[in-house]
Amino acid sequence: MSLIENIIRPEIRALSAYHVQDADGFVKLDAMENPYQLSPKLRMQLGARLAEVAMNRYPVPTYASLKASLCAHFGVPAGFDVVLGNGSDELIAMVSVACARPGAKVLAPLPGFVMYAMSARFAGLEFIGVPLQADLTLDKAAMLAAIAEHRPAITYLAYPNNPTGTLFDADDMVEIIRAVGDSGIVIVDEAYQPFAPASFMSRLAEFDNLLVMRTVSKLGLAGIRLGYMSASAALLAEFDKVRPPYNINVLTQAAAEFVLEHADVLAEQAAALRAQRHLLGSALAALPGVHVFPSSANFLLIRIRAEGKTADAVFADLLARKVLVKNVGKMHSLLEDCLRITVSTPEENALFLAALTASLLPTSGP
Ligand SMILES: *Cc1c(COP(=O)(O)O)cnc(C)c1O
Repeated sequence: MSLIENIIRPEIRALSAYHVQDADGFVKLDAMENPYQLSPKLRMQLGARLAEVAMNRYPVPTYASLKASLCAHFGVPAGFDVVLGNGSDELIAMVSVACARPGAKVLAPLPGFVMYAMSARFAGLEFIGVPLQADLTLDKAAMLAAIAEHRPAITYLAYPNNPTGTLFDADDMVEIIRAVGDSGIVIVDEAYQPFAPASFMSRLAEFDNLLVMRTVSKLGLAGIRLGYMSASAALLAEFDKVRPPYNINVLTQAAAEFVLEHADVLAEQAAALRAQRHLLGSALAALPGVHVFPSSANFLLIRIRAEGKTADAVFADLLARKVLVKNVGKMHSLLEDCLRITVSTPEENALFLAALTASLLPTSGP
């Protein structure tokens, strides 16, 4: 046996590394980033604030001031605390590791966020995927049956869901949370909360097994890597034990605190993106052969069944015009012929629409 075969777990060797497309020079609509930056004035002030940070010191590992500011700004209920992660990806990893008892299982609807299954695999947990219905809403009966059969330690519900944009029915989710009961936790992943009309954060006190997870990534701070999660004090205390003690660096901490002092800016950007989602959705729905799924997130999922043009061909045409979206058609059979497009500025949305129109209607125009 080779060195690699001797030391690396077979399920890790079987994986391919997470592929991120090179986006240099593209209109980048593939990763749900907020296209807006802070104003030059705020960036100058941020620079001055960061210059004061003691980079020679370890972070103070309680992160008390950052946590207090996150709780105050994002509606964490009184009496509840948060645990911080280097992005919610790290929170998912921490929960997976803490729950990885022999034979423990993780359950989530599919198609869903890929890190749920990946993190489960890394931690040695079995992953059970439950397909959504054809309209990409939750299959409650199938979820309840899978919960009864597998008694998962962790059940994920992304609210709204990625890559579909669907806001699952809240009453269905409550039934699922109750069905899981004290045999597992239900993680409601609200990565897209700034773009959604509803949240479970205010309902934490209703359910002992509910954990609400969020991130500042889709809000405009993907680069600083900061996620937070809230649940009962007893659950958080256990998950905090597997958190690397200095997982949030001092620059992230200072930058997040600064931006939260100017939270109105982020709120305005999110409102602009919600308005653009509506406009872009209407424009897309008017194109021949394009179906737009309802979205409560900062992206739109579309299915392309156009005459003489596959979704793969449209994706290639967009690439040729330097527009990068996400081709999700191979991710799951329910997503056949689907593309996922991040909602961006009016200018970038117009570039995308022009490229898509040229692909679908090559003979029209001047
Ligand atoms: C983007 C995303 C995350 C990850 O966010 P990070 O904080 O950037 O790690 C988590 N969950 C869902 C559903 C997402 O789409």
